[in-house]
Amino acid sequence: MPTFNILMLPGDGIGVEVMAEVQTLIDWFNHQGIARFEVEQDLVGGSAYDAYGEAISEAAMDLAQASDAVMFGAVGGPKWDAVPYEKRPEAGLLRLRKDLGLFANLRPAICYGALADASALKRELVEGLDILIVRELTGGVYFGEPKEIVDLGNGQKRAVDTQVYQTFEIERIVRVACELARTRRKKVTSSDKKNVMKSGVLWDEVARQVHSREYSDITYEHMLADNCGMQLVRQPKQFDVIVTDNLFGDMLSDVAAMLTGSLGMLPSASLGAPDEKTGRRKSMYEPVHGSAPDITGQGIANPIATIASFGMALRYSFGMGEWADKLDQAIAKVLDQGLRTRDIMQSGMREVSTTEMGTAIRQELAASA
Ligand code: NAD
Repeated sequence: MPTFNILMLPGDGIGVEVMAEVQTLIDWFNHQGIARFEVEQDLVGGSAYDAYGEAISEAAMDLAQASDAVMFGAVGGPKWDAVPYEKRPEAGLLRLRKDLGLFANLRPAICYGALADASALKRELVEGLDILIVRELTGGVYFGEPKEIVDLGNGQKRAVDTQVYQTFEIERIVRVACELARTRRKKVTSSDKKNVMKSGVLWDEVARQVHSREYSDITYEHMLADNCGMQLVRQPKQFDVIVTDNLFGDMLSDVAAMLTGSLGMLPSASLGAPDEKTGRRKSMYEPVHGSAPDITGQGIANPIATIASFGMALRYSFGMGEWADKLDQAIAKVLDQGLRTRDIMQSGMREVSTTEMGTAIRQELAASA
């Protein structure tokens, strides 16, 4: 039986509540003898600051480095608004991304048929939507130097951010996108602004080279990032995998995400480079949403984003794609049955709690086993 080490970091607020549903799901997998998941749990974010004075402890970082996957809930909340900047809850998340070298952020946008009417777009445009945005996460304009505001001394200031990419950074993210496209509908759209940015010229040049050298079985398409934003709301089903840089990925993935309805439905994965010896990638899985202080402690948070994030771990870290498919189908069935948490509630449906939603999904999964 395959054995995997998971570090579970529920974090703050509803992170704790939604992660409890993943823990119960993991217990089910273990109990059924489908896989052996060994779970360590630790603190991150505000709860870690309260306990250790840091947003994540060195011990938790060591566990993260040794794990097959990190399951991350959410961090933050008004309680920690005044803590020093470098110790703020989000610092734990950024440290994990940086130290684990998680350069590839995967954000699927899947529209469940039962929720198609909740989208801002017409049902026919989004029903059955299944696209994947692959965003470069550790480079580009958010990290490039110089990054500064300079006082020019004449009553003016000058702000600089630097958009910078090297060949290897583009190669590795395009490879991730092409590998993923191979398991899907075999199409990659690479998006940049090569019409006005040098980094875009290099991005496209390198992306084309990687494609023609290593992935000629995949359809490659280039699209300017502004057009890509427009096409995502005009005709989103034309896409399969979109690969893009940190800045454009940040925006395009939020656009794509909102095609599908609520924040409580959106999973994500972040992957590092494959280990030279084992081929294993460092990885972290987390819902897109935050700690939702406004609904914390009420038992009404939607656990689907976090459960679907565990589904991505099954697919990308544990080689259990069949189980990932079954879990996705279980989520779709529960929605078809009319069960809804409050954030996705529609008239005529049955409102359920976080735990009831988690239990219903587990029961559907068990029924398909
Ligand atoms: P948020 O995502 O926590 O909440 C935004 C809105 O969506 C709220 O009304 C909330 O109730 C609702 N919502 C979010 N997830 C939901 C779920 N699973 N089920 C039902 N409703 C859900 O964003 P925010 O309010 O801007 O931020 C709150 C805190 O979370 C802040 O401290 C922020 O810094 C932090 N944050 C953390 C992360 C992260 O940990 N990755 C991401 C975003 C925000």
